Order: sequence, then structure tokens, then C-alpha cells
Amino acid sequence: MKEKPCVDHDYCVSVLNLIIDGEANELEKTFFNTHVKECLQCSEYYSIDQAIREAIRKKLEKKEAPQDLIHLLRIKFKESTRS
Ligand SMILES: [Zn+2]
Repeated sequence: MKEKPCVDHDYCVSVLNLIIDGEANELEKTFFNTHVKECLQCSEYYSIDQAIREAIRKKLEKKEAPQDLIHLLRIKFKESTRS
């Protein structure tokens, strides 16, 4: 896999969130399948995001995921990949 710059990461993130939530339409699923496999930034975001959600789900069981914690972890992830 070659590292490509993510041209519109905000859009990528919004699609990734829809995929993770299971709310993506066919167009978004196609975008996900073609783009995320080639976009290192997005594939890492996706795997981190899934790991976070999984960890929270296991920890809290059926309680709601704390959005503050997800937000905090995302910031930390961005900082760690900046250099
Ligand atoms: Zn991307």
C-alpha cells in the first residue's frame, strides 16, 4: 500500500463515521471501499476509531459512550501522527 495524501479528510471522516455507525448509503460504501484502502491516513483513523468504540463498549457495556473521551482520544491520535 502506497501512502497517498488525503485530499479531503473531513469528508473521509464523515463517511467513516457513517460506515462505523452502519448508516452509510451505497455511494458512501463505494467511496469507503475504494478510498480507505489506498489512504493510509483514513485506514488508520478507521482502525483507531473502531478500537476506541470497541474498548468503550466493552468497558461500559450498554451505557452510552462518553463523547468527551472519544474526542480526547482522537486529538491524541492526531498529535501522535503529526510528526
Ligand atoms: Zn482519506
